[in-house]
Amino acid sequence: MTVSKLARKTVRELTPYQSARRLGGSGDIWLNANESPFANEYNIKCNRLNRYSTCQPEELIQAYADYANVKKEQVLTSRGADEGIELLIRTFCEPNQDSILYCPPTYGMYAISAETFDINTKTVPLTAEWQLDIATIRDNLDTVKLIFVCSPNNPTGNLINRQDIEALLDMATGKALVVVDEAYIDFCPEASTVDLLGQYPNLVILRTLSKAFALAGLRCGFTLANPEIIELLLKVIAPYPVPVPVTDIAVQALSPAGLAKTKFQVLDLSANRAYLQAGLGMLDGVTVYDGYGNYLLVKFPDADALFGSLWEHGIILRRSPIENCIRISIGNRDECEKTLAFIREQL
Ligand code: PMP
Repeated sequence: MTVSKLARKTVRELTPYQSARRLGGSGDIWLNANESPFANEYNIKCNRLNRYSTCQPEELIQAYADYANVKKEQVLTSRGADEGIELLIRTFCEPNQDSILYCPPTYGMYAISAETFDINTKTVPLTAEWQLDIATIRDNLDTVKLIFVCSPNNPTGNLINRQDIEALLDMATGKALVVVDEAYIDFCPEASTVDLLGQYPNLVILRTLSKAFALAGLRCGFTLANPEIIELLLKVIAPYPVPVPVTDIAVQALSPAGLAKTKFQVLDLSANRAYLQAGLGMLDGVTVYDGYGNYLLVKFPDADALFGSLWEHGIILRRSPIENCIRISIGNRDECEKTLAFIREQL
């Protein structure tokens, strides 16, 4: 007899997310979690920790609003974009009644968050070109409150066509929100749909400091949406979601100097991505898909075998659920060179 019997059935039956670190991966080269290789340094002035943080620190909200070119009433900050996903589901979906819709292959947390709250999930796979299947989505909107679209899509790396996102917003008007996950958009800012916010009250955009801003360990993300949606999310969010030091660091990252550094690092990583794409693309039987984020999806003749030998040699990548595909995060030049050299040797 254990207390675990007391837990909700849904939770008892869940398999927890297994990161490579949790699975016992060990090595020198970690290109599995789309982290940045840049460990930037920040000053933390931790002299106010006897007081609770502000729920939505004004200076942080203003700094991100300026960066994203939106009004501060359109911004909510949370513990990573992952918490944004969870808040949207808890705010808009009635358990055991409403559904979310997402388009695999894509980011796993939409389904996980929905399942933990007893929200149904509907899937409409991406087309062969990894674009939205608009007609099938239209036929499946019954009970759907949230439609998740990831652009650049994780793990495929491509952008979702803007006209299709607009078509989705039109067909979902009055019925559902369209959530565009732009976790990787800082690597291709011109592809953002942020300019559509004013036009579509049912558009929500997720952002994060975890990727281009190299702050995955900070846990700071943003939800951009019309003020009515932000007000609703504020009813559900924990009272003190953003630790004081997080605000200090995030504001530094969003300062002119911080933004300049990020821009430089994005250029650097884009060059490494091009290097890896060119190098892998020359290998027999290998297909490298165009990627717009800090990762590439690559198809190999035998991905399981290659992934295993890379793992054994301390090069930790991400095995994608797509047949014979491995997702490679873009590291520094040395990490990219070593990974390419090892793969070349193996094939
Ligand atoms: N969306 C996508 C597409 C992601 O890949 C990730 C992180 N891997 C997230 C959201 C969550 O990011 P955060 O670290 O801000 O929770």
